[in-house]
Amino acid sequence: MLNKLNYCPVNVQPHTKAVYKNVEQKSPDIFENNNDPFKNVSFHGRDLVSMLAEKQVDKDLKIIFEKLDGLDGDEFAQTAYKELVKYLKLEDCAPKELTFLEKEGRPIASDYKWYENKVIVYRNYFDKASKAEKLGYIAHELTHCKQTSNILKTDDPNIIKQYAIAIAMSDFNAAMSTNPQAAASLLKAKQTGKEKEYIQTMIYRQAGATYKELITIFADVLKLPKYPLNSANGQKALSDIKAQSLYNGATEQGWNNCPLEKEAMDFENFIKADYCKYTK
Ligand SMILES: [Zn+2]
Repeated sequence: MLNKLNYCPVNVQPHTKAVYKNVEQKSPDIFENNNDPFKNVSFHGRDLVSMLAEKQVDKDLKIIFEKLDGLDGDEFAQTAYKELVKYLKLEDCAPKELTFLEKEGRPIASDYKWYENKVIVYRNYFDKASKAEKLGYIAHELTHCKQTSNILKTDDPNIIKQYAIAIAMSDFNAAMSTNPQAAASLLKAKQTGKEKEYIQTMIYRQAGATYKELITIFADVLKLPKYPLNSANGQKALSDIKAQSLYNGATEQGWNNCPLEKEAMDFENFIKADYCKYTK
């Protein structure tokens, strides 16, 4: 997910906000409907200590920093990326290298786009950042890659469907905040008593497409050995799926409150501080 600089939400039309206020907060209970094609999928698991928070800091990071000594520019970034992929044990899931693009429309420095299998940095911000900040951006996006990898490797026949629905829900949340036509359609459905059906239709339509993308892009990852559902990793996966379903990346509050972003920010800030200490 994108790494925002000074947060600047996408342009939200005032009347969209007003419409959104009239829409009750939806919840995962829509999946308990009998017509649910993903029946038996449920959300549970929360408040788990993240893998990264458990890690002690860390002689392995110091070894990475030593390898970066004397490197600059793209070579610094690519080397840092590859070393952090190894550090996070993501060799079997992360894109092979960092992708550089000139800029995005929004004020963001980096993004993990799993559906393109890319970790992207945007030169207009990234190139001006300090080395510590660059490490932080890369660590942030790889944390999201780790979250995804952990979900994909969890041993539950419904896990990919759950994840696809959760992604569709967060996309829906964002659309309600940014797309006046979508918000107006939802309000119309609400006025005719068809709100639940409307939300369900929109989310399942998107979830079906997302499910196909996930099983195609991560076909190889899905063949790897799995974590039992009741292991710490499995429970973290369920917790992360729930967080994804409630995520609204189009609002500052949604971004700040999302546990997936908090974990990524924790690792970003941690590695930045550690690198500053190393270079002092
Ligand atoms: Zn993020």
